[in-house]
Amino acid sequence: MFLSGKRALVTGSTSGIGLAVARALAAEGAEIVLNGFGEEADIARLRDEFRARHVGADLTTCEGCDALMDAAGPVDILVNNAGMQHVAPVESFPVEKWDAIVALNLTAAFHTVRRAVPHMKAQGWGRIVNVASAHSKTASPFKSAYIAAKHGLDGFTKTIALELARSGVTANCVSPGYAWTPLVENQIPDTMKARGLSREEVIDDVLLAKQPTKKFVQPAEIGALAVFLCREDAGNVTGANWSIDGGWTAE
Ligand code: NAD
Repeated sequence: MFLSGKRALVTGSTSGIGLAVARALAAEGAEIVLNGFGEEADIARLRDEFRARHVGADLTTCEGCDALMDAAGPVDILVNNAGMQHVAPVESFPVEKWDAIVALNLTAAFHTVRRAVPHMKAQGWGRIVNVASAHSKTASPFKSAYIAAKHGLDGFTKTIALELARSGVTANCVSPGYAWTPLVENQIPDTMKARGLSREEVIDDVLLAKQPTKKFVQPAEIGALAVFLCREDAGNVTGANWSIDGGWTAE
């Protein structure tokens, strides 16, 4: 239980990858602060499971991010995971979707990091894990906002890693390929429309076509990688962008 006594804030931890990361950190003894949307009953169940606080702030605004950080208090581990996707050709990409995707997948990490860093620096220890994507390293059509935001998150992470390099605080991206979560499932209908494909063709010829292993990444595998980055002997691992994508970005 090497994370006992450490507080970990995981954004977007009511679902998918964030929930798996929260479970992996909690299994090592971390106190979890949950964030994200969901049905009241589901969130109550998660609060019980983790014996944790849940702060349901909307992270698409600066005020929402500040409210989250005010409620969370000082955090030792910050996992910026909340994200959203929209699939459409650039010429018809809804402007409000662009703004929301960039706000949540990129700008929210700036707001949480700027609030979390003073405590981490003062105590000489901290871990920042930003959940990016294979799409922080490579592109696919019809996902312009998401891919721009995730590339931006990679650059932001490298920059803060350099700024924090002597402070005991590390900052890394983890970059999954396709993991079977609501975020992926929900983009199937739009991808069918944008590419003129059936559901099965989207899964086999678009999603898994990217992954040489032909397997979806398991959210728990991403949790295990986040735990590794929190170890003492990962103190020199900073400014990196960790692929966990079944070989996608090796091609
Ligand atoms: P998900 O839809 O299962 O979970 C998203 C989480 O973010 C939920 O808890 C949701 O409530 C929360 N959220 C959404 N909008 C929010 C907002 N405005 N404010 C606060 N919280 C909000 O998605 P997921 O697949 O688990 O994705 C998690 C992260 O992993 C995202 O950053 C995503 O880009 C990234 N990612 C996912 C995949 C994949 O294949 N699933 C691949 C690469 C990267």
